[in-house]
Amino acid sequence: SNNWYIALFQFRYITINILPNYYQAKKLFLKEKALKNYRFEDLNLKAPFLKALNEEGYTSPTPIQKETIPLVLQGQDLMGMAQTGTGKTAAFTLPILQKLNANQSTEKARDPRALILAPTRELAIQINESIRKYGQYIAIKHTVVFGGVKQGPQVKSLTRGMDVIVATPGRLLDLINQGVCSLNKIQFFVLDEADRMLDMGFIRDVEKVIKLLPKQRQTLFFSATMPESVIRFSETMLKSPVKVKVKST
Ligand code: AMP
Repeated sequence: SNNWYIALFQFRYITINILPNYYQAKKLFLKEKALKNYRFEDLNLKAPFLKALNEEGYTSPTPIQKETIPLVLQGQDLMGMAQTGTGKTAAFTLPILQKLNANQSTEKARDPRALILAPTRELAIQINESIRKYGQYIAIKHTVVFGGVKQGPQVKSLTRGMDVIVATPGRLLDLINQGVCSLNKIQFFVLDEADRMLDMGFIRDVEKVIKLLPKQRQTLFFSATMPESVIRFSETMLKSPVKVKVKST
């Protein structure tokens, strides 16, 4: 009867403690396996982008890329909760470049059609570098503008005509006020690291920029955290957004 009691105890222990963990681990394993089998081709990305991604050595999309890229290609506004390191830059850069490329501008001194705002110059430079990498096989003109440096070279590149501008808010407003750059033709607006943007006190500048954007546009809003203040801020610029949330890897 002692053995019977031990067996009963073991059975209870396994069903309560081990089985749920086993099923959870199995679910996670299958999810990761499915993600590994998922390819960039499945996201409707075109050949020039697949080639660039292949050269970067990326074998499969990250979770934020898998969720975001099809939504952006469909024209959805988006509110993404994702940290740096999740692959979020490619998640918004690739579909925007593909859409811009599908509708190439023939004017030389054209106004920008996509604007990406970032809170710091380091992040802005990094995003511009990603555009260079992912867009290397298409003819898209892009540049980055940020404060703390002479504006001469930035003015020069903007007057040459650009498809995409990556900017920090203060310097962008300075350049707009001087008539160097116009936001009248913006079709895609990305606000990256919105929570940091608020923490660093850029809310007024961002609001001024938003007032200058056409009402008819696609807006993508990214933040690592979503406190009430960030959600309220997002509501001033998004139209029926799809919400995407990923954990950092
Ligand atoms: P981000 O979160 O955009 O700052 O990206 C973090 C890092 O992940 C960057 O160094 C990217 O080059 C890299 N990365 C982005 N997408 C992928 C991918 N699908 N596979 C492997 N690395 C990636």
